[in-house]
Amino acid sequence: MTNEAEHAGRKIDHSQTVTEPKNAGFDTVFPPGTILACSGCGEGLYKVLTRATTADLVMDDGTILQPLNITIPPHDAWKSLACVKCGGRVYKTGKLHTLQTGWT
Ligand SMILES: [Zn+2]
Repeated sequence: MTNEAEHAGRKIDHSQTVTEPKNAGFDTVFPPGTILACSGCGEGLYKVLTRATTADLVMDDGTILQPLNITIPPHDAWKSLACVKCGGRVYKTGKLHTLQTGWT
């Protein structure tokens, strides 16, 4: 993996890969086209460009998550996912909030 991914792995403090059942949340697969949306106001924030897991998306440095409009900054691995409008959460405890299915 890249240096960025290693840094991000340290940030969320898991030293092992996401294959353990207790980390199942991080293994959730999001298909291309999934929209990450704010859990507070419902604002769509990022589109998933390639099939990716929760861990991939949380650690993304802007290559998987495409901002839906120009007011949204590219995601980078050092920033938590949050709504640019209301600051609402897009990520919590292994789950991402999507436009299509809510907390997934
Ligand atoms: Zn919001």
